[in-house]
Amino acid sequence: MTVLSAQTTDENVNKVAPALFATYPSPAALAGAPLSHVEELVFSTGFYRQKASAIVSLAQDLTEKFDGEVPDDLNELVTLKGVGRKTASVVLAEAFEKPAIAVDTHVRRTTNRLGLVSNSDPVKIETDLKALYPTELWAGISMRFIQFGRDICDARKPACRDCEMVKLCDYQDKNL
Ligand code: SF4
Repeated sequence: MTVLSAQTTDENVNKVAPALFATYPSPAALAGAPLSHVEELVFSTGFYRQKASAIVSLAQDLTEKFDGEVPDDLNELVTLKGVGRKTASVVLAEAFEKPAIAVDTHVRRTTNRLGLVSNSDPVKIETDLKALYPTELWAGISMRFIQFGRDICDARKPACRDCEMVKLCDYQDKNL
């Protein structure tokens, strides 16, 4: 689902996931799936050819390397095809409730505007946020910044007048 979430809404991913998982209920099943059928199933998430190919390759890799079990270790997760640090961190935090911070575009924007970090590199942002927050909060941090970025601190039109962080925020171009 994390792979499918690129360039689309969570709503779209949530709509296609039940049929996808019902049809191919394990990595081994998805690994042997006809690509054209997977393309049909994920069509509405956009970039369906690339995404179908990515999840089938990922399922094959998962089956071959880890016997179909999703590893709960960042260094192992990132060895899988199409899995970068962000995807691995989402899986660790959301599926395994392990301490991990995924840095996406919302996390990058909001934490920089607030002055919590001063970096564009996601790995450095992750490191800086991990230094700021206690380990037990890491798993929930990304979702909070993502929701804040969606609801209030929009990329183009941040709702600074309604923002409770306005007095603490370092952003020079506030929308006041
Ligand atoms: S004051 Fe504006 S720029 Fe700063 S965090 Fe709030 S919404 Fe974002």
